[in-house]
Amino acid sequence: MTAEKTSQTPAISVGRVYLVGAGPGDPGLLTLRGAECLQQAELVLYDGLVNPLLLRHSRANSERTCRAEGPTGRHIPQEEINQRLIAAARQGKTVVRLKGGDPFIFGRGSEEAAALREAGIPFEVVPGITAATAAAVYTGISLTHRDHASAVAFITGHEDPAKPASALDYEALARFPGTLVFYMGLHRLDAIASALVAAGKPATTPVCVVCRATQPLQRTVTGTLADVASVVSAAGLHPPSLVIVGDCVKMREQARWFEDRPLFGLRIGITRPEEQSTDAARRAYELGALPVLLPTIEIAPPEDWTAVDNVLGRLDQFDWIIWTSSNGVRGLLGRLWELGGDTRRLNHAQLACIGTSTAAELEKYSLRADVVPPEYRAESLAAELSSKVSGKRVLWARASRGRDVLPQELTNAGASLEQVVVYHNRDVPTLPAHELRQIERGELDWIALSSPSIARSLARLLTPSARQHVGSRTRLASISPVTTAAALEVGLPIAAEATTYTWEGLFQCMVKLELERTQ
Ligand code: SAH
Repeated sequence: MTAEKTSQTPAISVGRVYLVGAGPGDPGLLTLRGAECLQQAELVLYDGLVNPLLLRHSRANSERTCRAEGPTGRHIPQEEINQRLIAAARQGKTVVRLKGGDPFIFGRGSEEAAALREAGIPFEVVPGITAATAAAVYTGISLTHRDHASAVAFITGHEDPAKPASALDYEALARFPGTLVFYMGLHRLDAIASALVAAGKPATTPVCVVCRATQPLQRTVTGTLADVASVVSAAGLHPPSLVIVGDCVKMREQARWFEDRPLFGLRIGITRPEEQSTDAARRAYELGALPVLLPTIEIAPPEDWTAVDNVLGRLDQFDWIIWTSSNGVRGLLGRLWELGGDTRRLNHAQLACIGTSTAAELEKYSLRADVVPPEYRAESLAAELSSKVSGKRVLWARASRGRDVLPQELTNAGASLEQVVVYHNRDVPTLPAHELRQIERGELDWIALSSPSIARSLARLLTPSARQHVGSRTRLASISPVTTAAALEVGLPIAAEATTYTWEGLFQCMVKLELERTQ
């Protein structure tokens, strides 16, 4: 920065506020710009409709300004939110105000923008996918289907139609030549439907109510203006819900897709360590399921690097280096990089990995595995290596605990094996409270177990009331026969076992069982 520019800059530079639309709930429905803003944020204030999974785009402190559900919810008044945004920006912070759907559609985002403008705070508004269009698409409805609607109206259902002061002109709405979408209308559904009929809209007009749109727990109920209120109350729907009124609702079955996903509506416990659960959670979403994160073990770097550093100093002496997890790859090669070295130090070593995801981690370091066994298990890796390692110096970069198969078999095959612990794998002290309660209430459909240590840890972490559901209401899926054996040993019955020993294999075995159940 030049001296001239510095003299023009205020002593403390003011931060910036991004008012970002978080979309309707599916964490994939955030804009690229929204994700960029979250990456830059130092403070995130998000509202009750926002899916907390979006916070993964950010390393900032974050705070929920209101809870969408539950009587205990704290609610920060709008004026206080405005003041918090202004104060944080004045401290020089980059702030993201994350709001459900689009910030300017029934969201008071424009009031926040006005307050920022008045206070002289620079801001940007990032649009989001609003609930109406998202709910329509995720239920198979085109709001402007050419045969049924030439317009669409977004309406607040919050106002009481019985009150003379209502801003809504129901006669105009009844005459409107297109689809009506009511936000915030669930608790007044009966009054809204009656007011439309009284204003001349045919009682046979189709209505669709969509609850938790775009989320795996999305629920859709259809009826007509005459009966929708009773159909909805029988179905027990909850907010947030949207009400779509119009003939386009009739076409829904032709274009539905989301609710036909193979694991739609199921809640699946993901037992991987927290920082490694992203891919599995995303895959659960793709298959229609709600991932419930239940980290049973955690991964930590070694407390003392002496042994690893010692091995790294002699790396060129090994004929083979073996990895049985991507953590192991990161542990050894990450440390090598930290110490100022790089992969040239591997020299002539041949590289072996237990499976494709470990090999994929190696590829990030531009290294190709020489051996990946057809089956992702220690026995298979040992069998592949046994004819190759006799008289060779072999390094296994391993976890602090695991099975003994590999060292036994490789030593039997005549290898001179050295093992170095490059990361710790330990049980977590407890499961997250909110998620544990879901198991205790019998809300989970599946828990997926991806290693023997995870199975053992889960058995220890389940409270008696959670345990009564596990194996009955909540079924267990196992990634491999070895994991199944470990689970059975600690009294956890397995309902499905993967035939390919990967997370994808785990999901596929659950899909297979679910399909069998519905057929
Ligand atoms: N700014 C938001 C709307 C906020 S008003 C947007 O653009 O979507 C809150 C209302 O939005 C809720 O009462 C409900 O009617 C609707 N809504 C938001 N998310 C929803 C969802 N996932 N499913 C159904 N309705 C939703």
